[in-house]
Amino acid sequence: LGDNPSVIIVGAGMSGISAAKSLSDAGITDILILEATNRIGGRMHKTSFAGLSVELGANWVEGVGGDEDNPIWEMVNKLELDTFYSNFDNLSANIYKQEGGLYNADVVQEALELAENVEEISENISNALIAHGENDISVLTSQRLADHVPTSPLDMVLDYYTYDYEFAEPPRVTSLQNTAPLPTFANFGEDIYFVGDSKGYESVVHHIAKQFLTTDDNGNITDLRVKLNKVVTEINYKADGVVVTTEDGSTYEADYVMVSVSIGVLQTKLINFVPILPPWKILALYKLDMGVYTKIFLKFPYKFWPTGNGTEFFLYASERRGYFAPWQHLENEYPGSNVLLVTATDDESRRIEQQSDSETKAEIMKVLRKMFGNHIPDATDILVPKWWSNRFYKGSFSNWPIGVSRLDYEEIRAPVGRVYFTGEHTSEHYNGYVHGAYLAGIDSANMMISSVNKQKVPNQEHRDFI
Ligand code: FAD
Repeated sequence: LGDNPSVIIVGAGMSGISAAKSLSDAGITDILILEATNRIGGRMHKTSFAGLSVELGANWVEGVGGDEDNPIWEMVNKLELDTFYSNFDNLSANIYKQEGGLYNADVVQEALELAENVEEISENISNALIAHGENDISVLTSQRLADHVPTSPLDMVLDYYTYDYEFAEPPRVTSLQNTAPLPTFANFGEDIYFVGDSKGYESVVHHIAKQFLTTDDNGNITDLRVKLNKVVTEINYKADGVVVTTEDGSTYEADYVMVSVSIGVLQTKLINFVPILPPWKILALYKLDMGVYTKIFLKFPYKFWPTGNGTEFFLYASERRGYFAPWQHLENEYPGSNVLLVTATDDESRRIEQQSDSETKAEIMKVLRKMFGNHIPDATDILVPKWWSNRFYKGSFSNWPIGVSRLDYEEIRAPVGRVYFTGEHTSEHYNGYVHGAYLAGIDSANMMISSVNKQKVPNQEHRDFI
């Protein structure tokens, strides 16, 4: 091997582009990025809806205002993207009962304070478990220990808003040790900002890409080291190199490969590894969860919801936990657009993806009529992203479930011979987030770089996990 090995990067989302930039910065410029879709950005994806530019995937910079600077927040500001502070302070005045009408704000405030207390107790339990080297428990188990298992529609919707709306999976599934306290908020701060800019949140990925890829006069990436519409179907890895095959029958040879596809994709057979990945690796990859989080946008002929300070976020409290529960009006972000955003997750998301958008719209209209009365107009447009059915994603972002240890996590991101792994799911502290994908790209590239440097010393092998 020379000083400058060749590397194939599979996937041009945030982590793949971040890894490629780090390799490039280290002098490894003989790279080839193979991306299945016709664009760079992956799960950061703007689309046009009813004349607006909205985000199908990541929307918020999460973790702002703390001791450490969130690197994504820095880039978003450098690019001068329009961002909006998400203010949930007034939520207690904005929770609708299943059959209509608002809950009394004092009643909600009490329930909210109880939920926050329980969250704090859970955090203390988590710290105690870690300090005593005890096994992990689920968030739900910690709620039982704190003697508060949400069962009423009001308690359930607050619980859904706190957990599922963040992790895309319920407290029954989610690991306590690895989410309480959550490093994103503990390190970068508790604030979150909505990116509502016609340039799209994905422009952050383009910004990184343009620092090492060639562009034309209009700033479009023209670098031949990026190949779009290339679906990788096989990775053949040997002691002296890799051969990567794409669906169109092309083959590419390199010294190393960096795989940045989602954990959801790694849990399918889209990419065939030859030889088959070792059992420790397969097991680790299959243990993590790929959550499903669905952002449904609806456009109306006119507004029928309250607007002004403290109205942006509202909740619908159904007996069916998480049934079209968290709502956001986008009057701040897109004034006068008459657009609402409602979020579904997990089983609801999977159900919704399998039915027609008009069926989903009919269900949502029923919910809205409960909240705002029968006189309200039908939505004129609906946008239902389908991340779970998409074979290049198979969900929205990873969630750390009960039963996955730190060692499992090390194994998820560990290389196998010349095959390296990156992606938000490999982030040491920030899985599930844009900043996680960005930092994971840097970390995985550094692992590869240090291994390349070690290879220059004869007889030094990669870490053998088998
Ligand atoms: P990806 O973006 O998935 O990149 C992997 C790339 O690999 C993709 O471009 C894919 O097309 C490509 N690929 C897949 N299979 C193949 C193949 N066989 N061959 C070649 N290429 C392939 N994060 C936040 O911080 N804030 C949020 O508000 C937020 N909200 C979200 C909401 C939704 C609905 C979703 C989906 C995600 C959200 N996230 C959010 C998470 C964030 O978007 C991701 O963590 C991050 O973008 C993942 O980047 P990545 O590079 O790891 O993966």
